Amino acid sequence: MLSLVWWHAQRLERSPPPISLRALFNVCMLKARAGLSQEMQALSDDELLSRSEFHPQWQRWLSYSAWEKQAEIRKSLVLHLPSDFRKRELRRLEAHRMPRAGRWLGVIPAARHLQLENLEARDYFCFYFGVPPLPVRADSFVPVSNISECPPIHCWLTNAKGKQCEEDFRGLFDHPFSCKTRGRVVEHNALRNALRNEIATLGFAVDPRESWEESLAHTGPGARGHSDAHLDIRIEDLGEGAAVVDVKYTSVTAAGAMKRGSVLAHVNQEERIKFGDHRSRYRITDSDGRHTTQLHTFAAIFTTFGGWSKGAMKLVRTLGAESGRSTQRLVDRIAILIARIGARRLRASIGPRSSSFSQSQSQ
Ligand SMILES: [Zn+2]
Repeated sequence: MLSLVWWHAQRLERSPPPISLRALFNVCMLKARAGLSQEMQALSDDELLSRSEFHPQWQRWLSYSAWEKQAEIRKSLVLHLPSDFRKRELRRLEAHRMPRAGRWLGVIPAARHLQLENLEARDYFCFYFGVPPLPVRADSFVPVSNISECPPIHCWLTNAKGKQCEEDFRGLFDHPFSCKTRGRVVEHNALRNALRNEIATLGFAVDPRESWEESLAHTGPGARGHSDAHLDIRIEDLGEGAAVVDVKYTSVTAAGAMKRGSVLAHVNQEERIKFGDHRSRYRITDSDGRHTTQLHTFAAIFTTFGGWSKGAMKLVRTLGAESGRSTQRLVDRIAILIARIGARRLRASIGPRSSSFSQSQSQ
């Protein structure tokens, strides 16, 4: 970890100095003044900021511009990285801009299920902010110039029968999230259960078992041979009628996701694969574009960095509107759960600490 921090520090020195807060403030004030009346324009900055009607606006302009600037600075720093890491790191930063991706950092740990253990918090911090939880180099603090200089790390993840993964990986811990030996069933089920329980808590009738839906069954080309579609959650009374939800936990830095144009393109594609058209996994229209189901469908995709898909956002908006109750508990719970399952997976892939230590010593 130290070597990467060192390496980042070296890069930082070479980058242009960040813009001063005063300069940023002036830019924001200038923007904020643009739409004001003559009378307001005449006021000084201090007088303007003391007016209550001005508050919501200047706060938004100030914070928005500040974060836009920060995003630009970070992006320009990433462009100095060796090419093996550049695209991956841009994807990580982009993933932070997905809806709700930063939520876990703002959750008040008021209940036990909203608290991360120390090691969980540390591991997820590492992953979220792009610092490997193990050294990328064991022998020196010299920055790596390509991924082959990072020592290989053996993956300790196992399948349901206890068979261990045979792959080694290097660098930034993306393999553990797309490890084929382990799969992502455990994480998927944890998210599905939390979502299902929270939907029931909001007062909706939810069947605790899986739901089989004939109207969504895929019988066309590429059908998987089932007569009924198998969905994660069914809500009997969501507004106009019954709704089904299918959940996915997806890695936006896995090899497959990196081939797509952007994080958003990947997440949108994952939604289309679930409920899109007659070629999707769960068919909602036939090849002529006619609807084959009365069910409302929601694809709730959650990324390893905590971002939510459009379908997941829409589901929670609908739940809030139909129940007339706050969905904050649901959102907080999912945010912390994503951090916890990510951290657990990372830690499990490293294996017993003594083994990873001697391994990096021997490299
Ligand atoms: Zn593996």
